[in-house]
Amino acid sequence: MHELSIVMSILDIANETVSKHQATGVEAIELDIGAIAGIEPDALDFAWQAAIPGTVLADAERAIHHIPGQGKCLECEITFNMPSLYTPCPVCGGYFTDVVAGKELKIRSLTLAMAES
Ligand SMILES: [Zn+2]
Repeated sequence: MHELSIVMSILDIANETVSKHQATGVEAIELDIGAIAGIEPDALDFAWQAAIPGTVLADAERAIHHIPGQGKCLECEITFNMPSLYTPCPVCGGYFTDVVAGKELKIRSLTLAMAES
């Protein structure tokens, strides 16, 4: 299940950020997930429930931004909506496209919980 390795790498980044800033944990995390990044939201949720309790992300409020897929045809250079990776160009029917959006999988923001000093 590759969603679990995704959650683990998010956790790695969170751990690093928390220790770099000497925070006590993460208050909120926002993720960008592209529609054609190959992520199953249910599987991601499941992996999250399995891996996150007891970590710096345990109490973090999680928000997910879904980024719709967009491709650009290399033949006619138009940009079109791409519900899947294999959506052909609506004008010429070609499959030679650049994915311009929708493959994102990244942390948009992390809000750290700081100790009172
Ligand atoms: Zn085209």
